[in-house]
Amino acid sequence: MIKRAVLQPLLIIWGDDLKKISILGSTGSIGTQALDVIRAHRGRFRIIGLAALRNIDVLEKQIEEFNPEVVAVFEKEKAEILSDRIDKKVKIVSGIEGLFAVATSEVTDIVITSVVGSIGLLPTLEAIRCKKTIALANKETLVVAGELVIKEAEKYDAKIIPVDSEHSAIFQCLQGEDPKNISRIILTASGGPFRDWPRNRIEKAKAEDALRHPTWNMGKKITVDSSTLMNKGLEVIEARWLFNVELGKIDVVVHPQSIVHSMVEYKDNSVISQMGIPDMRAPIQYALFYPERMESNIGRVDFGNLEQLTFMLPDMEKFPCLPLAYEALKIGKTMPCVLNGANEVLVEHFLQNKIGFYDIPKYIEKAMTVHEPFTYKTVDEILEVDKWVKNWIRNEIR
Ligand code: MG
Repeated sequence: MIKRAVLQPLLIIWGDDLKKISILGSTGSIGTQALDVIRAHRGRFRIIGLAALRNIDVLEKQIEEFNPEVVAVFEKEKAEILSDRIDKKVKIVSGIEGLFAVATSEVTDIVITSVVGSIGLLPTLEAIRCKKTIALANKETLVVAGELVIKEAEKYDAKIIPVDSEHSAIFQCLQGEDPKNISRIILTASGGPFRDWPRNRIEKAKAEDALRHPTWNMGKKITVDSSTLMNKGLEVIEARWLFNVELGKIDVVVHPQSIVHSMVEYKDNSVISQMGIPDMRAPIQYALFYPERMESNIGRVDFGNLEQLTFMLPDMEKFPCLPLAYEALKIGKTMPCVLNGANEVLVEHFLQNKIGFYDIPKYIEKAMTVHEPFTYKTVDEILEVDKWVKNWIRNEIR
């Protein structure tokens, strides 16, 4: 009660300056770090909606702290339990409709899409159709249906601002530049925990080995994707759509220190890079304040104590997921969706130590060989392919 009395006049003072935010995936790694950024700049944001899969304990605390208007819990039973626990005036919704309600809530300006997997596609599209600005952290959206999503964003004049550190870096390197002068986009990769392991040791790697990422603190799925380099493959596909560059112009370079977050080379061979310490709150803050720059309590690069910044080509033989992603993008049509769907299921199984590390690329390649890619026109067609490949993989590894 006291909190409300204090908050109310503040809201009136700030009025329309407040950016109104909804977060899809608020209890995950990106979601909680986005709330850290918002907490550090309290006077600038208001949380309208939060959505999570099932973690109602964390959601309950977030509701207490940020007073959202609408909260979605994907799992219905969990939504009901949360409803019983909360005595505040907040609308609690569930299922895919719940995600839509948070993604399209009328007053929201920016939707942070940080759910994991292809489930992010539909609510992101709904938000685009309601002309929301998308702070895009769900890479699967552009991987499975990049062409369609970008077309819709153009049609509805919805901005997409990347949150992924590499794409945020490229986006920052492009400010004030004419995109037609790009000669190359160079995505940097940390190389993951297995960068220096020999293949016969990687072969026996377990989930807990893959989860020991050397530089970035991220969710489980993306951390495994970093260890296979599939994460970089998905980012190549994402970059192709986000920045409208052809496949031949997107390179990957391994940079173990994760200080250079990516680079753009222009037609005069000048390279512009964006640097910073590896902390996801930096690209999140950039996306939320864009086009403004804002002070930050995130650490700075200490150049005097940086021993070295090194760069090397990725080992495509040790990490076959990366060439598979390039191949899927080259084939195009529904193939990137097959690559992504297969990978999602395989990573789930690897996390439970049910399959080996190299089973991930092995079964992805099998799925890509079986699938006959076609030109899709609707989201339903793409979601059908996603469903097909996930079932196909489950049957295949049973
Ligand atoms: Mg990244």
